[in-house]
Amino acid sequence: MTIANNLDSVRQQIAKAAAASSYKQQVKLLAVSKTKPAELIRTAYEAGQTEFGENYLQEALDKQLHLQDLPLTWHFIGPIQSNKTKPIAHHFDWVHSVDRLKIATRLNEARAEIDTLPLNICLQVNISSEASKSGVSLTELPELASAICSLPHLSLRGIMTIPAPTEDQAQQRANFAQLASALQLLQKQLPEAPLDTLSMGMSNDLEAAILEGATYVRVGTAIFGRRPPVKPESK
Ligand SMILES: *Cc1c(COP(=O)(O)O)cnc(C)c1O
Repeated sequence: MTIANNLDSVRQQIAKAAAASSYKQQVKLLAVSKTKPAELIRTAYEAGQTEFGENYLQEALDKQLHLQDLPLTWHFIGPIQSNKTKPIAHHFDWVHSVDRLKIATRLNEARAEIDTLPLNICLQVNISSEASKSGVSLTELPELASAICSLPHLSLRGIMTIPAPTEDQAQQRANFAQLASALQLLQKQLPEAPLDTLSMGMSNDLEAAILEGATYVRVGTAIFGRRPPVKPESK
């Protein structure tokens, strides 16, 4: 399979799920290119893909340098260390993985240093608390969201989640439905915020995510193929 073929079949999967979704939302595809070389990103771009997600800062900056000639939109989707906030705020259009105020405050200050649009933010929510350490709890989400809304160089666009992996589609949908109702609550709580984004669904569960209202699906393996196991030093 080539990347163009893979993109085609992911797009078809998305279109089919979107047509079946009662939300009737527009679904965007974020191609997750972590661990994959810049040449493959270029190939995906030539097949019509412009939005890319990266998890590891240094690796992402190296690839951005090689792809400067292309009009790409970059999303940071990995864990954020506070000493990395400045390059993230300067070199990305979106950050999906904000889960604490300290990081948001630092992103806001760094974004103020460059003359550009506010940085688009999704708060990462931990809906299956035993599965991962990252993410704000549903209980703490309203307070964090309202604090971030007052930061002028950030634009709070929505929420993101990575649920515990399961093959059970009913369970997948139940998890994503929790995130969808959390977004609806935030929209009521913060009517002035541009909260239009549900970032949820990956290669194995994008259909369930779209049926529950996803507006961004983050897809790596189904586009670029399998990745090598994570090396801690590559972070
Ligand atoms: C790696 C990653 C993805 C893509 O996962 P696949 O299963 O390869 O589609 C999506 N979101 C985040 C946050 C990731 O780290």
